[in-house]
Amino acid sequence: MRLLLLSDIHSNLEALEACLAAAPEYDLAVNLGDIVGYGASPNEVTECVRDVCKLSVRGNHDKATTGLMDLKDFNPVAGLAALWTRQQLKPHNLEWLRAVPQGPLFVPELSQAQFVHGSPVDEDEYVVTPQDAIEPLLVSPMQFTFFGHTHLQGAFSASELNPSAFRPEYKTVGNGEMLEFPVRDGQRYLVNPGSIGQPRDGDWRAAFALWNTDTHVVTFCRVPYDLKGAQERIMDAKLPPRLATRLAAGR
Ligand code: ZN
Repeated sequence: MRLLLLSDIHSNLEALEACLAAAPEYDLAVNLGDIVGYGASPNEVTECVRDVCKLSVRGNHDKATTGLMDLKDFNPVAGLAALWTRQQLKPHNLEWLRAVPQGPLFVPELSQAQFVHGSPVDEDEYVVTPQDAIEPLLVSPMQFTFFGHTHLQGAFSASELNPSAFRPEYKTVGNGEMLEFPVRDGQRYLVNPGSIGQPRDGDWRAAFALWNTDTHVVTFCRVPYDLKGAQERIMDAKLPPRLATRLAAGR
């Protein structure tokens, strides 16, 4: 089976469309949370995710926007964006978003995989370092955990107690690129496809990943998108300008 893995789209329609256009053929699309928040196209992105993704896990921004989480846990800019998003969302989109389930979620045909936003231990936890990855790798009964939340593309793996990190190293800063990461039996993995709508690993390109369960390969992808268009929409919406400028830096 070929899975398309999308995460942290954050209402960035330009980036989402570029990823879907660049994605190779797949059998099933899974979204790992934070559909909305920060970007200026919450309705379009929510509707697109609902159409494309068979499975969606909720993220903290989805919760904050729909009133399932207190905004006091957010920094002021994120809080403002969540309130703006709540006002913009059409009632049926808000209702759909509020019902997106908490992870871990599972696909019946894939007995060795689970899908979460932060970590299988805590949906709001950030798994950034190999140290952070130890507990989720150890407690997880699954060989593969796909997660988002950090906006950092890459993977952690462990056989026994030694966690190691993999970060894709791309050749360019502006082209569409794909990088294959072969996975092995007997090893557990935490895989983050990266953020589509607001990457924070210093690479402005939209990030996503594919997992082919037949060839045992995870493919990490980066795609250039209409950055200026996304930034203009944020400025036109009178969202905090920082939300537009940070997209160019990938931070
Ligand atoms: Zn996020």
